[in-house]
Amino acid sequence: MVVVMAPEATQEEIDAVVALVRSAGGDAFVSRGVSRTIVGLVGDVDDFEALNLGSRGGVLQVMRVSAPYKLVSRQHHPARSVIRVGGVPIGPDTLSVIAGPCAVETPEQTLEAVRMAKRAGACLLRGGAFKPRTSPYSYQGLGERGLRILAEVRQETGLPVVTEVIDPGSVDMVASYADMLQIGARNMQNFALLQAVGRAGRPVLLKRGFSATIEEWLSAAEYIAQRGNLDIVLCERGIRTFETATRNTLDISAVPVVQRLSHLPVIVDPSHSGGRRDLVVPLTRAAIAAGADGVIIDIHPEPKTALCDGDQALVESDVREIADAVTILSPLMGRTLTMPVRAGALPARAA
Ligand code: PEP
Ligand code: MN
Repeated sequence: MVVVMAPEATQEEIDAVVALVRSAGGDAFVSRGVSRTIVGLVGDVDDFEALNLGSRGGVLQVMRVSAPYKLVSRQHHPARSVIRVGGVPIGPDTLSVIAGPCAVETPEQTLEAVRMAKRAGACLLRGGAFKPRTSPYSYQGLGERGLRILAEVRQETGLPVVTEVIDPGSVDMVASYADMLQIGARNMQNFALLQAVGRAGRPVLLKRGFSATIEEWLSAAEYIAQRGNLDIVLCERGIRTFETATRNTLDISAVPVVQRLSHLPVIVDPSHSGGRRDLVVPLTRAAIAAGADGVIIDIHPEPKTALCDGDQALVESDVREIADAVTILSPLMGRTLTMPVRAGALPARAA
């Protein structure tokens, strides 16, 4: 069950709803969105019905939601959300390109990759300092040293930083460097991690697990929302199928399906989907045509020497093609290509 509070509801009115639900033996989680506050109830629906919450001050609507996810559902939030990352919007009217190296290796490699990313049309930079690799013998990332490099590159290029966090214990530390916290495919159902980023006061990029259904993916997003953070962007990054010609199979239909089910923005990762450089441009075009709100792309100045995912990293000659794809296709889809804003400093975290 969810309680939708009126835009003008006071903190006291919200607190009163939470107290009532708790007095009935349930629990309540408050999520503040841009335009309204939602209280998600956990417990016995019949007990909640008896509270007659609809008649309480500040309450706009009380809804039974049958889906296993409520706060991220479009049922009670028909307008599609715009999520801001370091001032950069991701939402229904824009196309946002996030690009950068799969892994941060050196300051020079990261800076050069991000300069290429800007030429490709990027407004946000990506780069992994903590790499959740399938094999423990593969490159695991530079850790906090990598985050410091990303912060320096943000200063230099003005692009806000999107980076992955892989365990609940380091969420606060990563959030002290990053504008947006990425949850990787392998951690999509790491519920302790989802709850931790839900409390971190930073927007979250939630990648789809490679064997997760859309319902499981949205339920994972609900874990984040339930802890008070509705600033979530979903990322389709390919799923595991019988096909071996590509690393994963890009589930392009997930884009419109999720946009019908959820108000959250949905972007596509054409790099991890195909796992092949030659597919990144066509899959980017497909993503935009399917209505994606953005793309996230791996770029490397020298993919042959890359410590992670070199086969899918774009090189300089591909950058022009991406820039053409995003600038030509955005207006055809009724979107404005998001331009970089000069971020420089990391914004304060949400309360
Ligand atoms: C990544 O974006 O660097 C990454 C590891 O992706 P995924 O979690 O989708 O495999
Ligand atoms: Mn990668």
